[in-house]
Amino acid sequence: MKKIAIIGSTGSIGTQTLDVVRANNDIKVAAIAAGSNVELLVQQAKEFRPDIVGIWSEDKACVLREALSEFDIRIVSGMEGLIEIARMEGVDVLVTAIVGMIGIRPTIEAIETGKDIALANKETLVTAGHIIMPLAREKGVKILPVDSEHSAIFQCIHGETDNKISRLLVTASGGPFRGKDRSFLENVTVEDALKHPNWSMGRKITIDSATLVNKGLEVIEAKWLFDVEPENIEVVVQPQSIIHSMVEFEDGSIKAQLGTPDMKLPIQYALYYPERRYLAGDRLDFKALSGIIIDTPDMETFKGLAFAYESIKIGGSMPTVFNAANEKAVALFLDKKIKFLQIYDIIDACMKNHEVVDNPSLDEILQTEQWVYTFIDAYISKGV
Ligand code: NDP
Ligand code: MG
Repeated sequence: MKKIAIIGSTGSIGTQTLDVVRANNDIKVAAIAAGSNVELLVQQAKEFRPDIVGIWSEDKACVLREALSEFDIRIVSGMEGLIEIARMEGVDVLVTAIVGMIGIRPTIEAIETGKDIALANKETLVTAGHIIMPLAREKGVKILPVDSEHSAIFQCIHGETDNKISRLLVTASGGPFRGKDRSFLENVTVEDALKHPNWSMGRKITIDSATLVNKGLEVIEAKWLFDVEPENIEVVVQPQSIIHSMVEFEDGSIKAQLGTPDMKLPIQYALYYPERRYLAGDRLDFKALSGIIIDTPDMETFKGLAFAYESIKIGGSMPTVFNAANEKAVALFLDKKIKFLQIYDIIDACMKNHEVVDNPSLDEILQTEQWVYTFIDAYISKGV
């Protein structure tokens, strides 16, 4: 029986991973971990009976320990707990469904101990792709993309081992504000930004979709996963989220992967790769494709994508600055401390003031993250 561990089991990707496990009934969940949602963790632990359950805060770990005392389950907490889960023996795949670059260390530990990674946690690859991809090759482990666009590309290149990719066409829905201008964006609220037209996802990625930062992170993620330079990665807007992405080969042939927007498909494909399994749900109605729209992204208004291309062109620690500045700015926006467009101002200020470190080590990536947070605190306190 395949054994998996899930960090971020209570979130959008985490719960859908457990839906896939439940429907197939032939995978053992050896460990789960979350940030603070004790109630759902307890429910998941009772249903899936993992060996280890992790939670970020030590206080909540006591509550968890109490709630699960009748079971033979080890409770762990903090980064140490995530690392213990990542290093567990006998686990085949670590599903990284955690949000943010906090996923870097557990991901590296899981690769070091020979586990394949079902990777949803794109922030890890954006900031540490230059460490993770060579390490995965050295350890002979697979990085299996869960992000729908990257899963689409992964499905398109299956069987194309020796064939050169000339271009990746990454599709974007354009988010809830597609077609709007800066004056409209000036006063959009958190509630407006959380209304994604096609996907129901966690709060952070939903805001990233509205700013187009998500698509920017995905361009960098694609560069690392498929070894294609950013100038050969094009973003095309496809508002219905039916074409999940496309690959153009040397002979001009383009392969696309299509389907209804349902994250359970890429999750299941990653868990059973290269096998396909039955998946319940709506099938694509081809007659609906007659109304399909393809558009170019508005990178001047939605600067998230432009910042991403700039950061990866500069390279070194700059993608970490782009990502960390965005993580903090989105948290401030969700707390209603800044306005929507200030997310861009903050990323811009951080990138302009950063001294790039070439080929940063893990410590240097984490130091850069801290530099960004300190810089933003000072920037906000100046009332900018
Ligand atoms: P959610 O916010 O829904 O879930 C995040 C998960 O991470 C929760 O289980 C949360 O626990 C947990 N978590 C947060 N902080 C910590 C911590 N310090 N220690 C342990 N666990 C923690 O996010 P999503 O599921 O939407 O996204 C997860 C990742 O997948 C992101 O990187 C996102 O970009 C990517 N992704 C998501 C897609 C989607 O459809 N949702 C699509 C493609 C990629 P708790 O519930 O307790 O807070
Ligand atoms: Mg995506």
